[in-house]
Amino acid sequence: MFTPLELSTIKNLLIPEKEIVIVTHYNPDGDAVGSSLGLKHALKMQGVEATVIVPNDFPKFLKWMPEARQILVAEFRRKKVAEVLHNADVIFCLDFNTLSRIGFIGEWIARSSAVKILIDHHQMPDAFDYVYSDTSVPATCQMIYHFLEALEWQDKISKDSAECLYTGIMTDTGGFRFRSTSGITHHIIANLIEKGADPAQIASDTWDTNSISRLHLLSLILSRVELVKEGQVAILWLKRAEMKQFGFEKGATEGFVNYGLSIQGVKMSAFFMEDLQEDFIKISFRSKDDLDVNQFSRNYFNGGGHINAAGGRSELSMEDTLERFKSIVSSEIC
Ligand code: 5GP
Ligand code: MN
Repeated sequence: MFTPLELSTIKNLLIPEKEIVIVTHYNPDGDAVGSSLGLKHALKMQGVEATVIVPNDFPKFLKWMPEARQILVAEFRRKKVAEVLHNADVIFCLDFNTLSRIGFIGEWIARSSAVKILIDHHQMPDAFDYVYSDTSVPATCQMIYHFLEALEWQDKISKDSAECLYTGIMTDTGGFRFRSTSGITHHIIANLIEKGADPAQIASDTWDTNSISRLHLLSLILSRVELVKEGQVAILWLKRAEMKQFGFEKGATEGFVNYGLSIQGVKMSAFFMEDLQEDFIKISFRSKDDLDVNQFSRNYFNGGGHINAAGGRSELSMEDTLERFKSIVSSEIC
């Protein structure tokens, strides 16, 4: 948490006269959108307006969140976003650890003279004016809750704010399953429910949104899951042409990597997907226990993330990428 002195300085900045901006990472997920909107709604209860910016568009299944449609998507609104960032007095950076994770707006933020406040749970954060980084917390949404509590603004957590914070904790813990889910997490969840978050509605609006084409895509990927390293590593992959064939939409492959990890005996799952626009392969890694995919991805795939959930990239072809991956895991993992 921020020191008491930092908290009082930050609190003094959160007033109606200041331009407050909240930004989150590229390919925003439930925790990214949830923490940004959860903070925005709480600030609004304090009489402070904030503008939320994301680098690129986010999946449809997150757009039910209150005011999700007011979020400025930088890839579509470059001029407006440049103007908002230029005028900003305070920029909250949520759910990412380095400006290189937010695309071209990272350079704009680096140049801005605004006060930059990082709240994040990824490994090895860069320097910002104020940093609240804790890798033991399962979701940035939980950190926003702790931050509001430290400001003595728990009463500012409205129903809208509670719904957003609940969503990010639910998605980043894989439905309250992952290792860093704690008793404190559940206490916070209880408080968010009391403030109006509806578990059934949120789970359903977020997760029960499959289209037939997504299930067909999933069945294709599952039909060719490959196990290597004596069944401890699962490999899933998808090519651009296949995505197009199934009428792929943004976010359609979200969560697919977890199916690999659900196989008995598997300690690490890797999902390789050709990017739709650019010529590279986006990789998602998931693992169990102490198998550190953050370090693995940093070492070999130009990425990072958390111990049990990380991402990376490869510039090779799919075939060469899979070969390289197999050869690395044959000597490095487990
Ligand atoms: P996902 O596999 O869901 O895209 O990402 C899993 C986790 O790794 C997320 O916390 C995400 O922020 C992080 N991550 C994903 N891709 C990258 C990357 O290319 N670089 C870094 N540093 N982190 C990533
Ligand atoms: Mn997160």
